[in-house]
Amino acid sequence: MTAPATPITQDVLTLPRKPVATDGSTNLVGLTRDGLRDALIAAGTPERQAKMRAGQVWQWIYQKGVREFEAMTNLAKPYRAMLADHFVIEVPQVVRREVSADGTRKYLLRIAGGHEVETVYIPEEGRGTLCISSQVGCTLTCSFCHTGTQRLVRNLTPAEIVGQIMVARDDLGEWPEPGRNPKDETRLLSNIVLMGMGEPLYNFEAVRDGMRIAMDPEGISLSRRRITLSTSGVVPEIARAADEIGCLLAVSFHATTDDVRDRLVPINKRWNIESLLDALRAYPRLSNSERITFEYVMLDGINDSDDDARRLVKLIEGIPAKINLIPFNEWPGAPYRRSSNNRIRAFADIVYKAGYASPIRTPRGEDIMAACGQLKSETERARRTERRAPATL
Ligand code: SAH
Ligand code: SF4
Repeated sequence: MTAPATPITQDVLTLPRKPVATDGSTNLVGLTRDGLRDALIAAGTPERQAKMRAGQVWQWIYQKGVREFEAMTNLAKPYRAMLADHFVIEVPQVVRREVSADGTRKYLLRIAGGHEVETVYIPEEGRGTLCISSQVGCTLTCSFCHTGTQRLVRNLTPAEIVGQIMVARDDLGEWPEPGRNPKDETRLLSNIVLMGMGEPLYNFEAVRDGMRIAMDPEGISLSRRRITLSTSGVVPEIARAADEIGCLLAVSFHATTDDVRDRLVPINKRWNIESLLDALRAYPRLSNSERITFEYVMLDGINDSDDDARRLVKLIEGIPAKINLIPFNEWPGAPYRRSSNNRIRAFADIVYKAGYASPIRTPRGEDIMAACGQLKSETERARRTERRAPATL
């Protein structure tokens, strides 16, 4: 046990941001419905009309994907001109789009301040999942995660969070055509996972507001059960996520003893396995149809023994759960190796026999560095990978 202790968080400051677009005018994307109404009033819309106008503008932006006020044909021309004078509809700029041999698409997006984030679209049989980022970098320093080697630059705004969905829909060409309104299961973009860069529960309000927009029935209209938020274990915010967002929850569990988890997921030093499990047991609506996903990265010789598998099922006893085994995705300078396929299968088998679904996540988009834990801003990747604490568990 001679590995240097990894700090829980990086020494960084998170800067709050206003909904200001690059040209200085107010961006309507990312405002809550009330926020949109207030903005329209502040720009001169009579109060008694404001709710209706906000509803109309909302539908143009989130249901039809329109970016120009000129195209909002159910509004009077002078009103459209007024909107164009005060506001913009701005989403992150796509700097690069890569498509993997397996169809996975990765977007490198530029946001205000010249920062960059990555968003990944994963097509699957019967659904399409968008993996979105919540921060530029991450405050936390999980030792197996590429994003964790990147200092946090800032939290994303609600506009930048929901904007990732809008950009993907642009690319997929999935804004409704007249008379065509695909059902969830036939949509190209049917599911959201907050599993990109960053710890979503450390950017709670922006993630909540972005997801509320995504769930709004008069817009992108994704059901709360098609959104999964993944956390490394920010215990005090877990109940709040259930109350205020209501989405499904995934937890980056990754170890079965505090000693090992302290080193893999350093936030464990603040909230250990027991307190995390207590918070999960209390997660409202916990039922078999809304099970918690336990993510478990398979690291050769570190956390992948039969004993680990047995401890895992014992720890989560009584929690409706599914265990998602993630073969470790390597990145340049990573201090771990992926467990062998046989080891992963043996581990999965023990978990399965204890009564839990134990799917092994197929790495997607590895050829374009789009797989879990490989995301990092391009500017950061160009720099030499920082030295990480060696894995000498
Ligand atoms: N910050 C959140 C969400 C982003 S990470 C969290 O930690 O849960 C999404 C998932 O990918 C997490 O379960 C994370 O532990 C896992 N992950 C990170 N790096 C990985 C890697 N190199 N290989 C496989 N999975 C990784
Ligand atoms: Fe951050 Fe999640 Fe990576 Fe940990 S695993 S460093 S919490 S993005």
